[in-house]
Amino acid sequence: MSNREGGCLCGAVRYVLKAEPRPGVLCHCTHCRKQSGSLFSFNIVLRESDYEQQGETKVFVDTGDSGQPVNRHFCGNCGAPILVKIAAAPKHVVIKAGSLDNLGGLTATTEIYCDHAADWLAPVAGAARFPQNQS
Ligand SMILES: [Zn+2]
Ligand SMILES: [Zn+2]
Repeated sequence: MSNREGGCLCGAVRYVLKAEPRPGVLCHCTHCRKQSGSLFSFNIVLRESDYEQQGETKVFVDTGDSGQPVNRHFCGNCGAPILVKIAAAPKHVVIKAGSLDNLGGLTATTEIYCDHAADWLAPVAGAARFPQNQS
């Protein structure tokens, strides 16, 4: 299978995923909502060494439930969220999968922070749902 590619809306930031990510997670948390301006984020995780980026991102240092920093990387030109680096999960990156050029073959198997999900949003068929984080 060929590498997956993605990038921001304006094209200043481009990336390649050199490995297949784990199945995706829909996150309904208020931070993902506010950063994206949408109802949830579609997140996929892979090793940082399998992520290759061209162009610079800006970083907003957020705080996760663990109290540890959550570095939210976005394009400083168009504002598109690209990835998140979580201090509690070193050597991994969380890609905002909506930034991929093509979503083919990617599924969401888990939904987290469902306590904050929009009332009228139907659950994803077959996905495990957690009221807060997974563990
Ligand atoms: Zn951009
Ligand atoms: Zn979230």
